[in-house]
Amino acid sequence: MLAYEYQADGSMRLVEKPTPTAGDGEVTVDVEMVGVCGTDLKIARGEHRLYPAGTVRVPGHEVVGRIRENRSGRDYREGQLVALAPNVGCGECGPCRGGRSNLCANYSSIGLTFDGGFAEVVTVPARGVEAGNILPVDDGLDPIDVVMTEPVAAVVRGLRPLNPGPGDTVLVCGAGPIGLTALLLAKRRGVAQVIVSQTSAPRRELAATLGADHTINPREEHLVERTMELTDGQGADCVVVATPVASVFQDALRAAAVGGRVNFFAGLPSGKGEVLLDANLVHYRELVVTGSTANTPEDNAEALAEVSASPEVYRQLVSDRVPLAQAEEGFARARSGEALKLVLEP
Ligand SMILES: [Zn+2]
Ligand SMILES: [Zn+2]
Repeated sequence: MLAYEYQADGSMRLVEKPTPTAGDGEVTVDVEMVGVCGTDLKIARGEHRLYPAGTVRVPGHEVVGRIRENRSGRDYREGQLVALAPNVGCGECGPCRGGRSNLCANYSSIGLTFDGGFAEVVTVPARGVEAGNILPVDDGLDPIDVVMTEPVAAVVRGLRPLNPGPGDTVLVCGAGPIGLTALLLAKRRGVAQVIVSQTSAPRRELAATLGADHTINPREEHLVERTMELTDGQGADCVVVATPVASVFQDALRAAAVGGRVNFFAGLPSGKGEVLLDANLVHYRELVVTGSTANTPEDNAEALAEVSASPEVYRQLVSDRVPLAQAEEGFARARSGEALKLVLEP
């Protein structure tokens, strides 16, 4: 089969390799569509800690495909469309038992610790089958309708403790795929208004097209002051930091309303995570500051239900569809930053 594989010399290459077959308890899936995200670009640059020098592995963790071979004993039928949740916890540690398999120290992951979906066929290990990583898609939906499931799962997880609802103002800092997904999800929850802050003009326009009530260019307008103006001086009830810029973490607290909920969705470059935050804002305004990283199979199941309920909303985030055989051109385009969500089609 064809695969776009990370090589021992640190390059990514299109290769022919043996098509995997399902072992005991395993399921193989014919990949229909797989999203490319920042993690994959990091792998391709040779900077991902789970791809140390000498690793030969196929990345790709945002997988939608059809059941090929089922040796799990579960009743998946051949050809059935499924979305795959990527992260498989050990199932035994504290975080796994507490419903946070995304924080398992011994987790494995499709496209990170074993071969992923930049290939014609991907294998789901027995442990992943047991943990609910295979998510059957409703009949009548196409791969394009549900290919955003995994990125949406990450945002579902990030927004859960913020619980945006009617009457709330939501401030989203950063209009990349994650920030724009947060915008769509917040609008679907019926919030009063969503404000999106973003330096790039085309991305601001896109945010407006996707339903942002106001956009802010933080290079020209003061993020906090403008947010206060747009909220009668109250601030935002929910703030999502979806850009790895240290000053935005500070502004997120300043822009939050009394009782505001803040999510640090983005991380900062390693070793540069220390940011001066005003503790009195948290204290006197009773702010709730949360973080989130990755996602669990349960988050993916909730995300799949969300995108299945309005595929036309989330399809808008897919900007580019590229055949797997042209993965190199696809990656070049993804690196350029012009694509929003680029998907490869094996
Ligand atoms: Zn991803
Ligand atoms: Zn675990």
